[in-house]
Amino acid sequence: MPKVKKIPRRQCVGCREARDKPDLIRVVKSPEGVISLDFKGKKPGRGAYLCRNIECFRRARKSRSLERVLKTAIPVGIFDILEREIEADAAQNAGRNIGRDAKPDTGQKIAEEKPDAANGGENGK
Ligand SMILES: [Zn+2]
Repeated sequence: MPKVKKIPRRQCVGCREARDKPDLIRVVKSPEGVISLDFKGKKPGRGAYLCRNIECFRRARKSRSLERVLKTAIPVGIFDILEREIEADAAQNAGRNIGRDAKPDTGQKIAEEKPDAANGGENGK
């Protein structure tokens, strides 16, 4: 086993699974309190991590886990960029997913997914 390099693992705020850091997008709150996206994992500040997976993004957005982890409001623009990034990424990955450790990770543990009509999905803020 020639691979000695340790890849740090972080927990996705969408699915709560630990993943290799490079597979996650980092949302970072700078020491000044500014929210931005950090694709290299190098910006200073407090970070929250999200899989490059649209399901995780939607779940995180809906449940406000990013807000909770970063303890601040996330600008809508950040969600927009995230969504675009993840979708672009998914489109790219569709072609080159072969050879990667492709575990099917659909279907399991969606126990907490319940439709809450109270929220209505769209709150036109
Ligand atoms: Zn995830």
